[in-house]
Amino acid sequence: MHLVFIGAHPDDETSASGTIAKYVDNGHRATIVVVTRGGRGHWKIPSGELEKIRTGEMEKAAKVLGADVIFLDYKDADVPAGDALKEELVDLVRSLRPDIVLTFHPLVWRDDHRRVGLAAADACFKACLPLVETGFPAHRPVPDLYFIGSPMLPLEPDVFIDISDYIDVKVESLSHHASQWVRWDIDEDYSTVDLEGVVERVRHRARQRGLESGVPYAEAFISQYRRRRALDFFP
Ligand SMILES: [Zn+2]
Repeated sequence: MHLVFIGAHPDDETSASGTIAKYVDNGHRATIVVVTRGGRGHWKIPSGELEKIRTGEMEKAAKVLGADVIFLDYKDADVPAGDALKEELVDLVRSLRPDIVLTFHPLVWRDDHRRVGLAAADACFKACLPLVETGFPAHRPVPDLYFIGSPMLPLEPDVFIDISDYIDVKVESLSHHASQWVRWDIDEDYSTVDLEGVVERVRHRARQRGLESGVPYAEAFISQYRRRRALDFFP
C-alpha cells in the first residue's frame, strides 16, 4: 500500500505526520509531495537561501517519518489557481499509484493550501480515467482521498487515526522545521525559536483529537465521500 501526502509547503505534513509514521511502521510506503519550497515565509532571509534551508528541513523531517519527498518547485504564495498544477498532479498520481491520498480541504485557510487541495482532489479522479491520455497509464481505482481536519472548517472530521505510539516521532519530525516557527516580532532569526511552545501546541491538538476518538493521541481527517469508517484506514 502507498500513502501519498500532497501539501503546499515544507511542514504542512505535520498535521498528518503521526499517521504517515504509523503507515510506514506498518510496512507500507509513504511519499510527501511538497508543491513549493516555502521560500517566502520569512521577513529577512532571502528567498533562495530560505528555500535551501527548508528543503533541508523537509528532508530531515521526512526521514524521521520514513517517507520519500518530492518537490514540485512552484513559488511559495503563488501556487496557481488554474489547471497547470492539476495536470501535473494527474501524472504524479499516475506514476506514484497511491492507495490513499491525504491533502488539504479546498475550503481551508490560505490560497496555497486551498489550491493544492482542490488540484489534488480533482487530479486523483482525473488520473483514473483511461481515456485521458498522458505519458502514464491511468491509475485505477481512484485513490481513497482524505482531507486534513481543521477547526477552521465547517465540516467535522469523520476519520480519526490513533497515533498514540507515534506522538514522539511526530514531535521529533516537526522539530526539524525550526525555520517555520519564527516569531517575526521577537526572533532575530530561526535559531531562537520557542520549540517547546510549538511542541506543546502540537501535542495539545493531538490530545484533543484523541479525546474525541477515545485514545490518548490522534489525528483527524475528513473522508471525501463522508464514509463513516472504523478508527483506522489501514488494511
Ligand atoms: Zn502551508
